Amino acid sequence: MGKCLIVIDYTYDFVADDGKLTCGKPGQAIEDRITALTEEFIRNGDFVVMAVDGHEPGDPYHPESRLYPPHNIYQTSGRDLYGKLNDIYQYNKERVYWMDKTRYSAFAGTDLEIRLRSRGITELHLAGVCTDICVLHTAVDAYNKGFALVIYRGAVQSFNQAGHEWALGHFASALGAEVVD
Ligand code: ZN
Repeated sequence: MGKCLIVIDYTYDFVADDGKLTCGKPGQAIEDRITALTEEFIRNGDFVVMAVDGHEPGDPYHPESRLYPPHNIYQTSGRDLYGKLNDIYQYNKERVYWMDKTRYSAFAGTDLEIRLRSRGITELHLAGVCTDICVLHTAVDAYNKGFALVIYRGAVQSFNQAGHEWALGHFASALGAEVVD
């Protein structure tokens, strides 16, 4: 059974103290776990995807423009992966698939599904931010498409702790995900 690690939106804007839409300290606290998972999947030769939010500046057609301050704008350092994850990515670019995300879900408007199916991947492992927004929407799409899910409690976070806790419960109770440390 093929498996894939999808790291969602672990970028400067979502994690750094002065990021444009940051989870702050809780987001920074999962850096080591996300980095270790990424290294492990690369070492084992499994498919690793960095699914990264991207916006055109002031895009009037993007629904998030009404909801959030500008963030993860193309060609800005806000879209760089945060901290040690960026180092791992820079050293392993040929083994990691960088994928620009168009909406919350990594499946929306991307070629993610066809890449997973062509590799025979049936099990998705999710990490990143935010647990209750982009990780949640990706997990819901994965569930609807029939993928098995593993979600790492210590490698997801949010700027909303109530939302984070709720989503962890939802992954297990409604999406049948294995929620692990
Ligand atoms: Zn966004």
